[in-house]
Amino acid sequence: SRDPKSFIEAPHAKSSIKKVIAIVSGKGGVGKSMVTSTLAVAMKKAGYAVGVLDADITGPSIPKAFGVKEAAACEEGLLPGKSNGGIQIMSVNLLLNDETDPVVWRGPILAGTVKQFWTDVIWDSVDYLLVDMPPGTGDVPLTVFQSLPLDGIIVVTSPQELVSMIVAKAVNMAKMMNIPVLGLIENMSYVKCPDCGKKIALFGESHLDETAARYKLDILGRMPIDPELAATCDRGEIEAMECEYLPGAVSALKGLLSE
Ligand code: ADP
Repeated sequence: SRDPKSFIEAPHAKSSIKKVIAIVSGKGGVGKSMVTSTLAVAMKKAGYAVGVLDADITGPSIPKAFGVKEAAACEEGLLPGKSNGGIQIMSVNLLLNDETDPVVWRGPILAGTVKQFWTDVIWDSVDYLLVDMPPGTGDVPLTVFQSLPLDGIIVVTSPQELVSMIVAKAVNMAKMMNIPVLGLIENMSYVKCPDCGKKIALFGESHLDETAARYKLDILGRMPIDPELAATCDRGEIEAMECEYLPGAVSALKGLLSE
C-alpha cells in the first residue's frame, strides 16, 4: 500500500525487527535525540528488545547518551554497538575514527548510509527499532522515510516553535507515505522548581492541545527541561535514569505489537 516509487530494501538476512518507528522534528535542537533515547530506555525497562538507528548525523548525541563508543564489523555485516542495558545502537558516529570529525557528506551519501544501517546491520531480535531521523522535511529525511518500512512516526515539538506548521508538514509527509502518525511529544514543556515543585512554563503556554485536536492526534507525553537528565546523558549514563516521562508513548508502542 506504499508509494511504488519507494526504495525499501530487505533488512539484513540475519536481522529480526518487529516494528520500526521514526522520531521526527521540524528542526534541530528541540530534543528529538533526547526523546528517542528516553523512549528507548523506557521500552527496554518495559521488557522489550530495543534498537536505535541514529539517522541524525548532525550530532553524536545518541551513542554519547548511552556511553557506546563503537560498532563492529564481522564477515556477514555490521554489528551495532550495545549499551550496558543491552540496547543496540547504530550511528555514523560509531564509524568515525574521531567522534569530533565533522560529517560533511552530501545528502545522497547520507541517505545511502542510513539505508545501509537497515540493509547491512545485523539487528538481533529487536522488538522496536527507533529511528532518530534527520531534522526537518528536506531531501535527506524524505529519502530515509522512503527507504525504511516504517510502522509509525512520532513527532517531537517544543513550545518555542510554530507547532501547527511542523505538525502539518509531518502529517502530510506521513500521509504521502501511508505511515500512521502515532502522536506528538512535547519536549522542554516546563521546568520543575527544585524547591517547591511548581511547574513553570518557561517558553509560555504551549499550543500543543489545539494542534493535536486539529489533526486528531494523541499527545504521547510532555518532557520537562530536566538538568539532571542532560547531565546524565553527558556522562553516557542515560540508562541510570527512570525515563518515565513518556507513558503515553510506551503504551502506543506496546499497542503496535498487540495489533
Ligand atoms: P535534536 O536531536 O532535536 O537536535 P537533542 O536531543 O540533541 O536535539 O537536544 C539538544 C540539546 O538539548 C542537548 O544538549 C540535550 O541534552 C538538551 N536537551 C534536550 N531535551 C532536554 C530536556 N528535556 N532536558 C534537558 N536537556 C535537554
